[in-house]
Amino acid sequence: MTRDFDIAVIGAGIAGATTAAALAADYKVALIEAEEQAGYHTTGRSAAIWVLNYGPPDVRVLTGLSREFFLNPPPDIADGSLGTHRQNIYLAPAHQTAALDALIAQDLGIVDMELAEVKRLVPALVDGYAVRAGLEDNAFDMDVAGLHQGFLRRMRQAGGVLLLRSRAGRIERRNKSWEVEVAGGDVVTAATVVNAAGAWGDEVAALAGIARLGLVPCRRTAAIIDPAPYAVTHWPMVQSAAHEWYVRAEARAKLMVTPCDETPMHPHDVQPDELDVAIAIDRMQQALDIPVRRVEHSWAGLRTFSPDRSLAFGWEKSVPGFFWCVGQGGYGIQTSPAAGQLVADMIAGRDPGEAGNVIAAIDPMRFRV
Ligand SMILES: Cc1cc2nc3c(=O)[nH]c(=O)nc-3n(C[C@H](O)[C@H](O)[C@H](O)COP(=O)(O)OP(=O)(O)OC[C@H]3O[C@@H](n4cnc5c(N)ncnc54)[C@H](O)[C@@H]3O)c2cc1C
Repeated sequence: MTRDFDIAVIGAGIAGATTAAALAADYKVALIEAEEQAGYHTTGRSAAIWVLNYGPPDVRVLTGLSREFFLNPPPDIADGSLGTHRQNIYLAPAHQTAALDALIAQDLGIVDMELAEVKRLVPALVDGYAVRAGLEDNAFDMDVAGLHQGFLRRMRQAGGVLLLRSRAGRIERRNKSWEVEVAGGDVVTAATVVNAAGAWGDEVAALAGIARLGLVPCRRTAAIIDPAPYAVTHWPMVQSAAHEWYVRAEARAKLMVTPCDETPMHPHDVQPDELDVAIAIDRMQQALDIPVRRVEHSWAGLRTFSPDRSLAFGWEKSVPGFFWCVGQGGYGIQTSPAAGQLVADMIAGRDPGEAGNVIAAIDPMRFRV
C-alpha cells in the first residue's frame, strides 16, 4: 500500500514527536517508528533531569527556551506542570575545584554552598570527600513520558499519523518526492523526510544515499539501588563537579546512580554493562556512605553526539527535501519543546524567533567541509 504525505518524520522518540506535533497542523505528517512502542530507545531511558548548566551554548539556549513549557505546559499537552523542583549539588574533591570554578564562572546560576548545608540535605555525605560544593537551585525532574505522550497526542489530534512497527528500510528520491518503504512493504511518499532517528541517524541517511555526519552513539548506564537507611525522596541530585558520577532520587524512594560512562558503540538495543554498574556504585560510595546490598534494576541508553557535540538540525545540501534532526546527546529531553518548534519552523520557513540565534551553530553541513 502506498500512502501520500507532505512530511515523513523517521523516529518517534522525543525529537520526532515534538517535530511532528509542530508540523501536523499545517502539513500531512507521517511519524514512522521501527519499534512497537514510541520512546522505546533513548527517550525512554533518560535520567529525566532539566539542568541549565549542561552542554554547548546552542543546547543551553534551547534548554532555557524550553523551561517555561515544562513548568506551565499548554493544556493539550498536560493537565499540570511537567517539572518538579530538585536542587542539583556539585561536590568538588580537592582535584576537582577547578571544575567547580568553571561551572560557577559560567554565571548560569551555580553558587558556592557550605559543606555543612550539603550534609544537612544529604546526611550520607562522607566527611572529607569534598573540599567545596556548588548549588544549582533551578533544576527540576521532568515528566518525560507525560511530555512525549502529550506531543504524540497533539500530533494525532492535528491529523498526523503514527506508524509503529514500521522500520524504514528503503528511502529513495523519485519524481521530486521521497519514497520510504517500511517493514511489511508499505510505502510512504513525502516531499520532505525528517531524520529524527537518534542513534540510527547516520544509518537512515545512508539508506537515502546521503553521506554520514559522523554521529557517535555512546552508551550510558544507570542502576537503581535501595538507599536504606536513608530517605532520599527529597534529596537534591548529587554529582561530582567533574561529572564522573551522579545520583538522583527516583519515584518509590529509590536512588538512580550512573558512572557518567560514554562508551562509543554501533546503534542497537543497548544493554547495561555490569562493570559500569560496579564503577557507578564505587564512585558514589567514595562520596556517599550508602550500603548497596542489591542492584534492583539497571539499564543503558545511547546518547548520540555529533562530532563537535552540538546539535545537528538543518537541511541536507546534497539532495532536496532531507532534514537532519540529530545529535541530541545527553540533552534531548530538556531541549525538546524548543527544539521541536525550531525544527518545524525551519522546515516550514517560519520565523523561529529567539531560537533562530542557534541556526548557524547547529547547521549539519558544518561537518561537510
Ligand atoms: C542514561 C541516560 C540519561 C539521560 N539523561 C538525560 C537527562 O537527564 N536530560 C535530557 O535532556 N536528556 C537525557 N538523556 C538524553 C536523551 O534521552 C536523548 O537525547 C533523547 O532521548 C534523544 O531522543 P531521540 O528522539 O533523538 O532518540 P530516540 O528516543 O532513540 O528515538 C529515535 C527513534 O528512531 C527510531 N528509528 C531508528 N531507525 C529507524 C528506522 N530506520 N525507521 C524507523 N524508525 C527508526 C528508533 O526506533 C527510535 O525510537 C539521557 C540519556 C541516557 C541514555
